[in-house]
Amino acid sequence: EWAEASTVREIVLAAPRSFCAGVERAISVVEQALDRYGPPVYVRKQIVHNVHVIADLQQRGAVFVDELTEIPDGAVTVFSAHGVAPSVRVAAADRGLPVIDATCPLVTKVHSEARRFVGRGNTVLLIGHAGHEETEGTLGEAPGQITLVENVTDAERIEVTDPDRVSYLVQTTLAVDEVAGVLDVLRRRFPALTGPSSDDICYATTNRQAALREVAAAADVVLVVGSANSSNSRRLVEVTERGGIPAYLVDDVGDVDLRWLAGRRTIGVTAGASAPPRLVDETVAALAGLGAHAVREHTTRTEDVHFTLPKEIRTP
Ligand code: SF4
Repeated sequence: EWAEASTVREIVLAAPRSFCAGVERAISVVEQALDRYGPPVYVRKQIVHNVHVIADLQQRGAVFVDELTEIPDGAVTVFSAHGVAPSVRVAAADRGLPVIDATCPLVTKVHSEARRFVGRGNTVLLIGHAGHEETEGTLGEAPGQITLVENVTDAERIEVTDPDRVSYLVQTTLAVDEVAGVLDVLRRRFPALTGPSSDDICYATTNRQAALREVAAAADVVLVVGSANSSNSRRLVEVTERGGIPAYLVDDVGDVDLRWLAGRRTIGVTAGASAPPRLVDETVAALAGLGAHAVREHTTRTEDVHFTLPKEIRTP
């Protein structure tokens, strides 16, 4: 069956790809909590949006739940990388749950901006996707005072109390080009619009999109390793498709449909920020088996970002 795709000649890996500093930190939090306190360690929501990471941690004794009410009294509780609304922190504190917060510091930054803008009396427009845990957490900073703007249509329609007092924030894992389009509309409608002093779309999201854009320009098809609920992974697929190149999201090499590769010579490969590097290695090894003679990496930037672990894990 693999013979059908034997036209494959070259694999080009986008760099940076795969784990970001926030994901590495969040996974370490769960691993170290398991080492330190022993299983079970309860995690509210998926620690990061990847099925393989979740399965691996579950095997080691992590228990993933949707709500705090599912966590027994006294159990070690981890908040996921995507952050939580203040109401969740309050509920956990009320129950006296021992909490370790694995929220990415770059998500925490967006939360503090939300508090700052709301504190000035501004209406805050959060550019992001409904239902994602990160947006739910950020919206929870000031229920009723932060409004979600999902796309250009929302941006055209949104009504605010005082057009001179409007600020915007952005979900960390959106597509840079899409947000630019939404911001164009908001700036036209609200010339006094203020925003964060540095971009909310995080370095990892930005770098993975920029690298993939260059790789895709020379590829016939692109494979993005990542899970369906991973926002930044899905944006990688969309950014590629907008550039006119077919792209597919795969959890691992087992998801690769050989028909996608039939007649294609150059395969671009990347991975979302929550996808383990091992999955990319396995995908490349399988593609090499199709006859790809060359595997090369196209690097647009090197990353050297590390976040320190939360104090509960850091101190002896
Ligand atoms: Fe943090 Fe960005 Fe990674 Fe999300 S994708 S965990 S915001 S570094």
